[in-house]
Amino acid sequence: MPRRKGKEGLTCKNCGSKFRSQKEVKIIKIWHTFSPFPDKDGNIAINVFATWECPICGARGRDKISSIKGGFEYKGKNYTEILAKIIYELKETTVEELSKRLNMSEETISKALKYLIAEGQIRAKLDGKKVIASSGQEA
Ligand SMILES: [Zn+2]
Repeated sequence: MPRRKGKEGLTCKNCGSKFRSQKEVKIIKIWHTFSPFPDKDGNIAINVFATWECPICGARGRDKISSIKGGFEYKGKNYTEILAKIIYELKETTVEELSKRLNMSEETISKALKYLIAEGQIRAKLDGKKVIASSGQEA
């Protein structure tokens, strides 16, 4: 028996077939999203999503197939968008300023920013404690 880890597995919305893991279906595409801010321990939850094809009926589904750190959700608030909006509006700001605005620690903001920038979710540069919005294709 495979080890059980919370609710894992996929269900075909078309024919109702259940699959214990993504290994049993045909994966079309995989992508990641993440809860944009780390928790108090500095961990960012990364969710892995997949578009997959049911091997029984051929229907496609999109589901979360795993979470690198579970149990951590931001209820309805999209901090990535809020953060991006502030940065784009101010063009240039600091980690300190963002931490005040979002009421989060500078360390948290810093970690989230590094991640979001690296992932291309926020088009900006982090220069020490400075956050500079980048416009278009900047070198
Ligand atoms: Zn199916």
